[in-house]
Amino acid sequence: MTRLRPVVARLRRGRRRTKPGSYQTGFTGLTGLKAQKKSSPSEILSVFSRVERQAQCVEPFGVMRRAIYPGSFDPVTNGHLDVIERACTLFDQVIVAVAINDQKQPLFAPDERLAMLRRAIRNSNVRVAPMEGLLVEFAALEKAHAVVRGLRAISDFEFEFQMALMNRKLDPEIETIFLMPKEEYTYLSSRIVKEIAKLGGDVSAFVPPPVAKALAKKFRIKLGEVAPIT
Ligand code: ADP
Repeated sequence: MTRLRPVVARLRRGRRRTKPGSYQTGFTGLTGLKAQKKSSPSEILSVFSRVERQAQCVEPFGVMRRAIYPGSFDPVTNGHLDVIERACTLFDQVIVAVAINDQKQPLFAPDERLAMLRRAIRNSNVRVAPMEGLLVEFAALEKAHAVVRGLRAISDFEFEFQMALMNRKLDPEIETIFLMPKEEYTYLSSRIVKEIAKLGGDVSAFVPPPVAKALAKKFRIKLGEVAPIT
């Protein structure tokens, strides 16, 4: 962990768009506080240390609030899409990060998962990207300060809580934000959708149409009814 710190710090330094010590005035960050025009940099730093951190990712038109939404997305469900929409109301840009070194033995290959997400997401403020390695390193590379995760039920909580605290330990500047989906999606998971599809059930109410098609095809291939694309 200690060996990681310098790596994350180096990546984070790469975030700085403005010269160190120079501050954009007049912006409001997540705190809603406005930097005073006549304050010296050190005064601003001591009073608004959090705003200073946001100033490290000042974009030409102000502070870019960028979040990462990581997951396996094997495949994307309407629950994931609900979380993405909610995240878009809080952040300027949401990067949906598809874990490609997933130990869960996913049904869909990384490229398939990326393509299904890209087809399902219409919002131009959302980018879908593959993610290898540690989430905190990916977040630092992408100049993001927040990680979004979905919380469906208490059963999600223990794992999510552990992961959020571990990520904070690895990089104290990362905040994890939990979003709850619409009630009707709280029982929905990629795993359950795959189980229904495997048994020939209709999953069209739970996933975007191309995903429902892809699932049907995947299981027909697995059962040997359709020749796989080579
Ligand atoms: P992971 O393998 O990292 O759990 P998933 O693709 O299963 O990845 O989920 C990614 C994130 O989306 C997790 O935070 C998970 O809790 C959340 N999530 C999954 N399904 C839903 C849903 N139906 N509603 C809200 N959040 C969800």
